Amino acid sequence: MIALAVIILLVIIIIYAVCSACSGGNNDVNGNSDGIRTSTVTTTSSDSQNPITQTTPVQTGSIMESVTGSQTSSATSPSDDKNKVQSIELTFYTCDLSVGDSTMPYVTMLPDTADLSEKWESSDESIASVDYLGNITASKPGVCYVTVSSVSNPEVYAQVKVNVMDENGLVPASQPVSTTSSNSSQTVTTTVTTSAVPVKNESGLTYIQGILIANKTYGLPEDYNPGLDSETESAFNTLSEAAANEGLDIYLSSGFRSYETQARIYGSYVDSYGQESADTFSARPGYSEHQTGLAIDVNTIDDSFAGTPEAEWLANHAHEYGFIIRYPKGKESITGYKYEPWHIRYLGVEKATEVYNSGLTLEEFLGIDSEYKE
Ligand SMILES: [Zn+2]
Repeated sequence: MIALAVIILLVIIIIYAVCSACSGGNNDVNGNSDGIRTSTVTTTSSDSQNPITQTTPVQTGSIMESVTGSQTSSATSPSDDKNKVQSIELTFYTCDLSVGDSTMPYVTMLPDTADLSEKWESSDESIASVDYLGNITASKPGVCYVTVSSVSNPEVYAQVKVNVMDENGLVPASQPVSTTSSNSSQTVTTTVTTSAVPVKNESGLTYIQGILIANKTYGLPEDYNPGLDSETESAFNTLSEAAANEGLDIYLSSGFRSYETQARIYGSYVDSYGQESADTFSARPGYSEHQTGLAIDVNTIDDSFAGTPEAEWLANHAHEYGFIIRYPKGKESITGYKYEPWHIRYLGVEKATEVYNSGLTLEEFLGIDSEYKE
């Protein structure tokens, strides 16, 4: 009888251990709690003379897109492809460290027939250093990027964004990092990680760290007409309900706006106020974040919204529902727009919270600008 009880107890313990392994096992080896989950989609052309491999790991913590294409031209023989690293993947692409902490991402280089020697570099050794094995050690608060590149094919690299927190758990403003573009006449290789490398896809959309960007620098195609994003809409409904529970009324006033609608709005502002003034508060057609379907204007879309209990609640809680106040006060010169307490942008809870905690505008967070080119 006692033996039976012991066996039952053992079975319960084993089941419990297995369950906690599946639910809590997404942290990296050093206990960072970014909650990075990576899924990989790989498509490989069956034509061995023309191998095209697309690898798209997607992280929820900080979305990384990596597209490695190798189009064989007459100058590239298949044996070159076998000897050269074509892609690099890491177990994580962003990490938060305190001063003195260390962490190490694991590297997968493909194909494994290639020379797999790797080279590690930090964009700022004073913030975080990295040794030849990829051990990253934090030295002082700030943001830097650690890059691992292939020795045999230096055009292929991957980066980890390293956030070193101060004693209050805050990360000082990041500096835009310069990155080399990877392109050669023989092999087309693009590896984009969490650095501020804008990626324009075939449809003419620009993604940075997986975030669709529409600002004065990065426009949208005229025919991009997605409507209000359904995830954004349902997140907004949740936000609105939460506000209602606090006795506050936050409602959608303007969501998706097409190119044509924005052209009309902008045109009428230009007529009334002149272009220079209109540009400070209204986007030119093709440059409005509303055309992404990921932006919402709430309540009264004017300065009277500022300072209301709704505006205050929105500023403090929007990130909990996946939104950021996109054009904060005093950041006109960075975002390109005056303070708009009513304009929120959906990023998902994880990213929005990261941006909120950084105290940065999206432009600063991603290290990009917002300026019309002409
Ligand atoms: Zn707006």
